[in-house]
Amino acid sequence: MNTLLPTTVVGSLPKPSWLAESETLWSPWKLDGEELREGKRDALSLAVDEQHQAGIDIISDGEQTRQHFVTTFIEHLSGVDFEHRRTVRIRDRYDASVPTVVGAVGRERSVFLDDARALRARTSQPIKWTLPGPMTMIDTLYDEHYRSREELAWEFAKILNQEAKELEAAGVDIIQFDEPAFNVFFDDLKEWGVAALERAAEGLRSTTAVHICYGYGIKANTEWKATLGSEWRQYEMSFPLLQQSTIDMVSLECHNSRVPVELIELLRGKKVMVGAIDVADGAIETPEDVAGTLRQVLRFVDADKLYPSTNCGMAPLARQVARDKMTALAAGAEIIRAELSGAAPST
Ligand SMILES: [Zn+2]
Repeated sequence: MNTLLPTTVVGSLPKPSWLAESETLWSPWKLDGEELREGKRDALSLAVDEQHQAGIDIISDGEQTRQHFVTTFIEHLSGVDFEHRRTVRIRDRYDASVPTVVGAVGRERSVFLDDARALRARTSQPIKWTLPGPMTMIDTLYDEHYRSREELAWEFAKILNQEAKELEAAGVDIIQFDEPAFNVFFDDLKEWGVAALERAAEGLRSTTAVHICYGYGIKANTEWKATLGSEWRQYEMSFPLLQQSTIDMVSLECHNSRVPVELIELLRGKKVMVGAIDVADGAIETPEDVAGTLRQVLRFVDADKLYPSTNCGMAPLARQVARDKMTALAAGAEIIRAELSGAAPST
């Protein structure tokens, strides 16, 4: 376990082909009942093992027990009707069939506690757990009850906070909220987005993180990115607000993106998970590619606050591609560790 430049993945990893369709995002399960329960647990063990083998420092469950990063959480809540679906535009970008909020939302029991305990039992390294952020949750629903994005986000923030506290008690070291919606809805972001996120993270002693990206490497996102011009400056809206917030860590997309790297300066003082692996391209980065990204970024983030990572989840990639990308990430970080220790004669 490296304490300098600890590596991690954003969240999801590909699922084994006996559990879900390969290289397919949000694929239905191939098993059911007790076989599914056991299959998910086996997949979680494999995901941990693959991260260990690759040399990743902070271990995730690879999101092996969820079909979708938002709806799997929402499925466990009361007040949401999954039969009564509506088609809505997600992230202002693509249409999807989503569940409807029909009454007051509530969490009757833990959603991920058993899975987090299973992860904790399988590694002695620090672990990270991902949850959807409040704004991204409301953007993946049709709301017939509250009829206020802000009010519903606040209710979800309270529910997320209950869940996060249980995960923390189970030994989760980093709790990460995924908020790709922060790169799209800038008025909401300023008015209540960061406040709702802080509410979700309130009172946690674990490290709290927010992941903001340009999405999985799917067609709708690739096409959207093509419209964003030569410089992607969306982070300029969220980073100053997050720098002032109670959130400890920010996870961002960097390698192969058009994000001007100097925007990371806006986060100075926070921990930064930098995407040094492209998840939209099956080509494997070399360790030197990873090191090159990290060297650039180190001009804008203190070395003791840098966490080399992937741009987003790797669920849609082939398993071997994800393994090789994790190995490259770990090897690239090692190049920079050696450079940093060589530059400090006292160590
Ligand atoms: Zn992402």
